[in-house]
Amino acid sequence: MEERCRAKRGVVGPVAVVVAEDRGGCPLCDGPMVVQKNAPRRGQTLAHGRFEAQETIYVCAAACRWPAGARVTRRAAGLCEALMPKSNFGYDVMVLVGQQRFGHHRQREEIQSALREEHGITISTGELSELSRRFTAYRGRLHRTRGGQLAATLATDGGWPLHVDATGEAGRGTLLIVMAGWRRWILGAWKIATERADLVLPCLREVVHRFGAPCAAMRDLGKAMTPALADLVAERELTIPVLACHQHFVADVGKDRLEPAHAELRGLFRRAKVRPHLSALGRDLGRQLGTNVEQARQAVRDWQSQEATEPRIEGGRNGLAVVRSLAQWTLDFKVAASGLDFPFDRPYLDLYERCLTALRATDAFLRTPPPDRQVTSALKRFHRALAPVDCQVPFSPVATRLRRHAVLVDELRTVLRLASVYPEAETEQELTQMRDPLDEWVASLAKRRPARGPAQDIREAIDVILRHMDDHGNTLWGQAIRLPEGAGGGVRLVARTNALAENFFKRLKHDERRRSGRKNLGQELEHLPAEAVLVYKLEYDDYVQIVCGSLDRLPATFAELDQLERQRRLNGEPSKDREDDLRTILQLASASLSTADRRVVRTEEMERRIDAAARSRAPRRQK
Ligand SMILES: [Zn+2]
Repeated sequence: MEERCRAKRGVVGPVAVVVAEDRGGCPLCDGPMVVQKNAPRRGQTLAHGRFEAQETIYVCAAACRWPAGARVTRRAAGLCEALMPKSNFGYDVMVLVGQQRFGHHRQREEIQSALREEHGITISTGELSELSRRFTAYRGRLHRTRGGQLAATLATDGGWPLHVDATGEAGRGTLLIVMAGWRRWILGAWKIATERADLVLPCLREVVHRFGAPCAAMRDLGKAMTPALADLVAERELTIPVLACHQHFVADVGKDRLEPAHAELRGLFRRAKVRPHLSALGRDLGRQLGTNVEQARQAVRDWQSQEATEPRIEGGRNGLAVVRSLAQWTLDFKVAASGLDFPFDRPYLDLYERCLTALRATDAFLRTPPPDRQVTSALKRFHRALAPVDCQVPFSPVATRLRRHAVLVDELRTVLRLASVYPEAETEQELTQMRDPLDEWVASLAKRRPARGPAQDIREAIDVILRHMDDHGNTLWGQAIRLPEGAGGGVRLVARTNALAENFFKRLKHDERRRSGRKNLGQELEHLPAEAVLVYKLEYDDYVQIVCGSLDRLPATFAELDQLERQRRLNGEPSKDREDDLRTILQLASASLSTADRRVVRTEEMERRIDAAARSRAPRRQK
């Protein structure tokens, strides 16, 4: 069939083929099979293009039935391996669509035209959506079916550290993942109504049921993950370290202390319209300089290389170019950031400091004014835009407060070595070298804490840190895991931040943003099937090796799953996939009533029944 189709490719319309299957014997009684019917079946696969097959279906002459009651029949094996049940599309088409959508983040229209041009396959965008949804469902099934093999591999490592994290966008589309840290595999992904302990716990249970207990757990300090993991550890009687993420620990302290002042500073900048004024100045000067930008740049470079014995700016176009570059430099305050989010970076404090520096410099440039009026007036305009920042009230006290609190947060950050990038490969010794200084630093805080007097905010800041140490101190250490002899012995460290899980989410959101062209991902995340994140794992060779051998085996592997599932159904065996049960639990546990439930619950009859029951008298107890 394949050869005929290949030969005819390029011909308009489907290729007609006859599927002649060896009828064989009945798998139950070994007796002969007879023709039940001939049926046409249309299909589209990457391997064959578009075709129309005449399929002969055989049935047991002795009318055997499977335990579940269906007659014993035999369909064309070649078609079953190529086409999905109840679909005209091949497994290979679905896999390509799913990989393009979730692995390469292509839009539907792009996939549609690629299929048409490269494979001669016509498909509507609605069918594309359906195929990509089906793909994620198959990915989930494959992942769960291979749970035993994956668990065995994790066991040979000497266990797996559990990383758990959730993300969403403005409370929508909350996605929970559990990762095996050392291999970076995602072991489970679910959509949950909201990040809450009673929704997280059943998912953790499910992962442990499938992959065995972890050797450690890493989490943030949140109100959902903390109790959910505590409950899991208690009910399974696990003796594993449950670790708080160091980055979250510092961020928590930092946000608590720095957020109010930072927000106040941002508000001041907005009200004074400093940034819009600077941008407008830059734009206007750019327009005046016209098309010869390169000359303007050269003027700035020349100015930079001059001996700075006397601060001055020359006249003419070169002077204007320099003023423009001053405005640009001030607005470029984000370059001072380390790349981590607030509170590790405080962008508005950086902007504040840049503005002050620029202002001092401009004062100096104006002391020996530029020789022409145009440049002087541009410089004065720059000065006016910055001037509000220089007020003693209100900018200065807010910035001072922010700086004072930042000192404490930065000390903590330095002790925990979270200065810029997260540590990847540390040693046990390095951990010890952090732990002791942290204890010493905390002890020193208690001494530095002013008992009374005007330094109330410092007192509060120190109290916040001490309280955090009390609450979380016992979950900060324990990253060194002793491996069993079978796994080579020795020590392996669990990451001391949850960056693994968080970076995964960052990447997912980045990819989805790029694909959808939307900044707010609420809707995208809501519609994204949880299993879509499993597609990312197909980048890990060790994982692919276990679940399907190699990526090009994926369509055939999905077809095998369907055949096994079909045989189980015929035999009347229950489906092995527990995932549906868990989804039901997650739905029931969510706070809001489902539409179906609401129709039942919000009725007068309901009220009447409850009311009547409440007023009824208790029957006398019988002894
Ligand atoms: Zn039979």
